[in-house]
Amino acid sequence: MTSKMESRGYFGEFGGSFVPEELQQVMDILESEFLKYKDNPEFKEEFQYYLKEYVGRENPLTYAQNLTKKIGGAKIYLKREDLNHTGAHKINNAIGQILLAKRMGAKRIIAETGAGQHGVATATACAMFGLECVIYMGKLDTERQALNVFRMELLGAKVVAVEKGQGRLKDAVDEALNDLVQNYKNTFYLLGSAVGPHPYPSIVKHFQAIISEESKRQILEKEGKLPTAIIACAGGGSNAIGAFTHYINEENVRLVGVEPAEAPSISQGVPAVLHGFKSLTLLDEKGDPQPTFSIAAGLDYPSVGPEHSFLKDSGRAEYVTIKGEEALEAFQILSKTEGIIPALESSHAVAHALNLAKELTKDDILIVNLSGRGDKDVEQVFKMLK
Ligand SMILES: *Cc1c(COP(=O)(O)O)cnc(C)c1O
Repeated sequence: MTSKMESRGYFGEFGGSFVPEELQQVMDILESEFLKYKDNPEFKEEFQYYLKEYVGRENPLTYAQNLTKKIGGAKIYLKREDLNHTGAHKINNAIGQILLAKRMGAKRIIAETGAGQHGVATATACAMFGLECVIYMGKLDTERQALNVFRMELLGAKVVAVEKGQGRLKDAVDEALNDLVQNYKNTFYLLGSAVGPHPYPSIVKHFQAIISEESKRQILEKEGKLPTAIIACAGGGSNAIGAFTHYINEENVRLVGVEPAEAPSISQGVPAVLHGFKSLTLLDEKGDPQPTFSIAAGLDYPSVGPEHSFLKDSGRAEYVTIKGEEALEAFQILSKTEGIIPALESSHAVAHALNLAKELTKDDILIVNLSGRGDKDVEQVFKMLK
């Protein structure tokens, strides 16, 4: 069900691998190594072991009783990725890729990060597996996520602040790819979202699919039926694709991706190649990637994972936008009603769930993927509200 790799990682017209020859060789090796290990029983067992003993899975599917009562429509469940070690879904993928890197003999891990969450997840996994770790981060992001930078350094990683371009996530991606081209012999590029050249979108989906594997089992146990809709925020699209995977073939389950209105790649983008893959991308008149300004650093990316572009085009999934201020309100509502402070990224999904729940009945069920916790955002929210 996960990662059909026919046609070199194309999802309809989207995806593929648009990289220089030298980097393509690295991608080819990565693809064959991934295919070799992904269904290998020992590899799977090791992945399961760390998910359970280190990440703390399975995490709950919490019925948001107070919120449901307050809104008065569909039953709202929260898939609690916020309860994972390091506080978000990204650790699932970081552990999976590190295990693959180790099998491939890598000594050095590089990664890029926007919100800092993927950098923290990567630095955490590198610390535990004893691997050298270099994290590229846009200069602006190092400033607005200064505590995450310090966290990565505590974990033993070297953080490189990228000043080129806008000093944002996409600039960090460029730098990481340059590093990989130069050092691929001993270096594994641990990509944080369901983006990048093939095979990365399929690899990330494979490791994040645990989210929907669990939630499907959990909702059937609790309700004896599948949900009306799954709602997840989409930046690069990894938590969303993981939350969708095991429902893609369940045609009665609506799949809803929520983008920030300030970076609506899927809703308003055009097909274009950026960072080695083709997907819906926000371009300016000159054809350059458009600057984006979401209050959620993790959603601030002008493109999106290729499978989401395909799911939108094929009509299987719906994508909506939520404004920063609506997310900020949802952040406060969830905190007050349920005692759960969500990440600003996840707050976009919560905000849409509140809108959708009102239109539905109490026989409907919504699963909101709570991709992460909001501790990292509390200081920023404090400043925005004062
Ligand atoms: C990074 C991040 C996101 C966005 O990344 P996706 O690849 O779109 O999932 C969403 N929520 C949280 C908490 C994050 O840290």
